[in-house]
Amino acid sequence: MPAKVSVEWLEKKCPRPQDCGKCLEVCPSMVFVLYATERERYKEPEHYVIVPSFKNFCVTCNKCIDVCPNDAIKVEVKE
Ligand code: SF4
Ligand code: SF4
Repeated sequence: MPAKVSVEWLEKKCPRPQDCGKCLEVCPSMVFVLYATERERYKEPEHYVIVPSFKNFCVTCNKCIDVCPNDAIKVEVKE
């Protein structure tokens, strides 16, 4: 059975992901989705979160960890 991978994004360490987005750029498997919360019509969203929606496709390359300036991503392989 293939190993399970857990990918976690820590909001406390990355309060404004829209200003960085490096993890989104480097991930070869497009694991992360930038998601705007509290949407209002005709208004630019102010609050965003990163959701590791496609963590099942993570290839454990650790590029997101290497590129993150805030140590806000955890990738763990669970046997
Ligand atoms: S370890 Fe690699 S594949 Fe997995 S989420 Fe990070 S950048 Fe993407
Ligand atoms: S690389 Fe790190 S600081 Fe930049 S958006 Fe991703 S989690 Fe946030």
